[in-house]
Amino acid sequence: MDFDLFVIGGGSGGVRCARIAAGYGARVGVAEARFWGGTCVNVGCVPKKFMVMAAEYGALAEDARGFGWDMTAGGHDWAALLAAKDKEISRLNGIYRRLLDNAGATIFDAKASFIDAHTLDVGGKRVTAERIVIATGGHPTGLDIPGADHAIISDDIFVMPDMPRRVAVVGSGYIAVEFAGVFAGLRAETHLVYRQPLPLRGFDTDLREALAEALAQNNVTLHAGTTPAAITADAHGKHLALSSGEVVTVDTVFFATGRAANTRGLNLAAAGVTTGKKGEIPVGPDFATNVPHIYALGDVTDRLNLTPVATAEGHALADTLYGNKPRGVSLENVPTAVFSIPPIATVGLTEEEAAKRPNGVKIFVSKFTPMRHTISGRTRKTLMKLIVDAKTDKVLGAHMLGEDAPEIMQGLAVAIITGATKADFDRTIGIHPTAAEEFVTMR
Ligand code: FAD
Ligand code: NDP
Repeated sequence: MDFDLFVIGGGSGGVRCARIAAGYGARVGVAEARFWGGTCVNVGCVPKKFMVMAAEYGALAEDARGFGWDMTAGGHDWAALLAAKDKEISRLNGIYRRLLDNAGATIFDAKASFIDAHTLDVGGKRVTAERIVIATGGHPTGLDIPGADHAIISDDIFVMPDMPRRVAVVGSGYIAVEFAGVFAGLRAETHLVYRQPLPLRGFDTDLREALAEALAQNNVTLHAGTTPAAITADAHGKHLALSSGEVVTVDTVFFATGRAANTRGLNLAAAGVTTGKKGEIPVGPDFATNVPHIYALGDVTDRLNLTPVATAEGHALADTLYGNKPRGVSLENVPTAVFSIPPIATVGLTEEEAAKRPNGVKIFVSKFTPMRHTISGRTRKTLMKLIVDAKTDKVLGAHMLGEDAPEIMQGLAVAIITGATKADFDRTIGIHPTAAEEFVTMR
């Protein structure tokens, strides 16, 4: 065999797995067809967060007036933001490549596909490996409606030459609510079109209600309980017809309606690897597919599609196969954040999930005006919520909408994972004056 391990995909999960395995002395090959660092670095977490930060500056400049500053914002330069973002991303692309190189992995800037269960076609070259990891991630999926080709998907936003003046964002998952915040913050007329009564299905209902309120306060026009029927275009713009009968006219229609696994083009049939209904690759707790020496991890398995999950899985697999440290990755109590404006962060059970448990739950909620906005003049609320097991007193879930929620939740996740009780929270002294102290003072 040419390699002990061959990793297909140079994204969050693939790079981590290849790098750690090579560090243990395995002969590792890794192929990336598009961009080193994958979705997160190039068309995901990193450029998205720069855009969210850009959107926040406008409001901060306005808020500063309440603190005695005159920081009149002169308008936003989209091209300057893209140039700064591209510069940082090229730096990160280089870092990812170098990490692999330094660890001794052999790098292929090429697409890989299966010839048989141990043989790959890597950019036209035949390569054999004892074990193969599929870490090919996913891609955005749009809606199949008349005129769908008038719409864009998340990959397009990061290379869009101009900021649209009017945007309709379709969907209300992570990407939709994050970009609704970006567009509205950069002063576009922004519409959010979604089929549920509230955005962010699956999150705690109090958070979802608080988010809908915050979006409306940030000038996002909410079109709840409706779906797109068709898009037409003329000199006045794109006309998005909704099932409600309403027509929204904008410059850009953005489908943020989910993602699908990158399995097409891998020729998985040649290796005997089976996929699920949506093209995802099912795996066991050891990341093995139905073919025991072929593994899959990260978004291509479509379980919890987050960067830290993909990297944790890649690391665990390399430790298991080559580091003599066999371990899996628990997908319980995985903290997550939505970088809406203001952001949301959460760990553990929602009130709805906890209510199904036999012990019963105690709920602690606090909604207040954050200190900055007592004098900024902006109407904005912070929401914090703890879900506690009524019998054991264990904190089962923590939820927050408000400034710094993701930063605060990372620490709370450690407490919850280690089984902290509400009494432990109560005996912890707060840090004053912060919003975070509310988590230890809720009674
Ligand atoms: P990817 O990072 O997608 O990497 C897969 C790589 O495989 C790609 O580079 C692809 O080009 C390559 N590839 C595919 N097929 C082949 C082939 N045949 N041969 C060779 N290479 C191939 N997660 C967070 O935790 N926080 C966030 O804030 C966040 N924001 C996001 C924002 C957006 C807009 C999007 C789209 C996603 C976001 N995510 C976020 C999710 C996160 O990006 C993914 O969970 C993560 O990138 C998954 O890593 P992965 O290694 O599984 O796949
Ligand atoms: P999500 O699955 O989170 O959301 C998809 C949205 O599209 C939902 O609101 C869904 O509605 C809606 N939708 C799907 N199909 C249709 C349809 N046929 N008609 C109308 N609406 C439809 O996907 P995203 O694209 O937002 O993000 C993909 C994943 O990437 C996320 O789930 C997350 O794992 C990851 N991500 C993580 C981020 C983070 O960590 N901050 C940021 C961005 C992405 P419904 O709820 O009714 O099904």
